[in-house]
Amino acid sequence: MYQLIDGKAISTALKEELKGKVDALKAQGVEPCLAVILVGEDPASTVYVNNKKKACEFIGIKSLSYELPESTTQDELLALIDKLNADDGVNGILVQLPLPKHIDEDAVIQAISPKKDVDGFHPQSVGALCIGQKGFVSCTPAGIIELLKRSNVEIEGKECVIIGRSNIVGKPMSLLMLRENATVTVCHSRTKNLKEVTKRADILIVAIGKPKMITAEYVKEGAVVIDVGIHRLEGKKLCGDVDFDTVAEHTSMITPVPGGVGPMTIAMLMKNCVDSVTM
Ligand code: NAD
Repeated sequence: MYQLIDGKAISTALKEELKGKVDALKAQGVEPCLAVILVGEDPASTVYVNNKKKACEFIGIKSLSYELPESTTQDELLALIDKLNADDGVNGILVQLPLPKHIDEDAVIQAISPKKDVDGFHPQSVGALCIGQKGFVSCTPAGIIELLKRSNVEIEGKECVIIGRSNIVGKPMSLLMLRENATVTVCHSRTKNLKEVTKRADILIVAIGKPKMITAEYVKEGAVVIDVGIHRLEGKKLCGDVDFDTVAEHTSMITPVPGGVGPMTIAMLMKNCVDSVTM
């Protein structure tokens, strides 16, 4: 019988802990503050930004909201980031991605001060993670480490296979699992014999972006499976990259979609905001 890894419950516990920390900071006269920038009116981005603002409110983090028109130029956006970098009252800066096509995302990410880079996307943050130095870590992979630890999954010495090598999930995930002393393999779209590789995994982390691609034949009996994917099917039901209904019974532990990795991403963003006070 498998155990569900309850991301909703774990993220709620984490947010309650953060609320306590913020109360203690406020008692010392410090109020963490996150600046959230949204350019354009992409419906999904608007929902994400609203959820982030709600989480700030719950925890007691002050949030400043900059909702800019689609026509905003790159220079205007960079000028706003410069202003927020220089503002001592702002601890974290988040620019919701994706940006409109006329704006260079890399230039924007690089403009954010690494001390305020709560998304952990700045090259300096990624470099710090790579060489084991202090810095912000991308929220989704950091949330997965938290899920594993709080579910008492042993990581050290285990075979961990990650499917996906994106800059925001797969690559930082591999570095974090290495930091936890797992033996790490990263698979991607050019990997040959994917099933043979994934079958070795004690811990299988799936971030492919293809609905229900991972079926039972990819999974070792008793593995821990973490599903990062999130897709809306016709009829509005959500599913992940893992075919939960056929895979779950072969695992020892598995994250559901929704209610697994998703809620942890925002909780870890909040953790980064609280940590940004001392960065
Ligand atoms: P991405 O598209 O940037 O990367 C996908 C990766 O999968 C690539 O590295 C690619 O090489 C690999 N891949 C594609 N097809 C493959 C195949 N057939 N075999 C092996 N590897 C293959 O995606 P991403 O940004 O890393 O996101 C992955 C999924 O996670 C998406 O569904 C996304 O929506 C979801 N996601 C969820 C959260 C969350 O908070 N829950 C956060 C980020 C991403």
